[in-house]
Amino acid sequence: MATERSYYEILGVERGASDAEIKRAFRKLAQQWHPDVNADAEAVGRFKEINEAYQVLSDPKRRQIYDMVGRAGLGDMSGAGSPFGEGFGGFGDLFDAFFAGMGGNAAGARRGGRRAAGSDLRYDLRISFDEAVRGVDKEIEFDLLDRCVTCAGSGAAPGSNAVPCATCGGRGEIRSVRQTLLGQMVNVTLCTRCNGEGRVVDTPCHDCKGDGRTSQHKKLRVTIPAGIDEGHQIRLSGEGEVGPRGGPAGNLYVAVHVTPHPVLRRDGTEVFYDLQLSIAQAALGTRLRIPTIEGDEDLEVRPGTQPATEIRLRGRGVPHLRRPGTRGDLHVMIHVNVPTRLSRRQRQLLEELAAESGEIVLPAGFLDRVKDALD
Ligand code: ZN
Repeated sequence: MATERSYYEILGVERGASDAEIKRAFRKLAQQWHPDVNADAEAVGRFKEINEAYQVLSDPKRRQIYDMVGRAGLGDMSGAGSPFGEGFGGFGDLFDAFFAGMGGNAAGARRGGRRAAGSDLRYDLRISFDEAVRGVDKEIEFDLLDRCVTCAGSGAAPGSNAVPCATCGGRGEIRSVRQTLLGQMVNVTLCTRCNGEGRVVDTPCHDCKGDGRTSQHKKLRVTIPAGIDEGHQIRLSGEGEVGPRGGPAGNLYVAVHVTPHPVLRRDGTEVFYDLQLSIAQAALGTRLRIPTIEGDEDLEVRPGTQPATEIRLRGRGVPHLRRPGTRGDLHVMIHVNVPTRLSRRQRQLLEELAAESGEIVLPAGFLDRVKDALD
């Protein structure tokens, strides 16, 4: 029975290998053994093994345990159950590890040559509070690398063609197989002549110099849904830069910025308004104009309204982005202001109010006199 290979042997690194060496080895092996590119029957098993080794050796804690007591010490930590295990950082890492250095975006990968995808673009769009609440259509304009009109993106001059790359036979990669003590080693490298595209242009297009793209001005209409908020992004698939020589286009991300309302505060779907009342208004009740999303309107404040209470107008907030037809609330936050300066008449009335309630209050000018006495 063959003895189990150590994680170091699986990745083909020394026991003292640095994190960078381990990552590099993993990437190389993942590219070679990923079941999506390697049709060998053993690829699935090998890839799983490589992945398991990397999960442990790339984690300093687990690597330490493994160095001391071997696999037994790791127990379930190697992430049984999930093909990628915990601690792997999800699909992003795998994607990154797998496609790094493969020349271009994975989305553009194709068997028999891959064309790099174009870059994603970001457009910062500022809209008003009202536009965010109600939704709006906006026209945006920007410059980008778009498909060359002359060659229709092929990069080949009109009348000529892109032909299969003779160096790699149109596969975009060059494989070499070596026999080693550990078994057959397949080394896959990107074809440098065609950059992995599998095709080469013999007579480049004059306008784009064979790139298949030229700088162009683009206008787009963007629909901003009602309820969008500061920091949200709208993705427009395929509206970014196109890739070279017919490579797929990247996405356009419209980053939305919302100018705040002068008096209404917004928190998600909820809208807040601070309403200042005098003592008399709070005690006796009142009717006054308040701003709302729909414009100013009358609000009735009941007699005996206490400070820090909230009048909630249901369904008068911002529309939910994901639940059309429903809206948050408008929260009117009551503040009761105690006057700090009183006219003679106001003072008299308040003193009468206090006397009526049997309350003792300071006589007029009392604090001034106390202050004088202390000087
Ligand atoms: Zn062209």
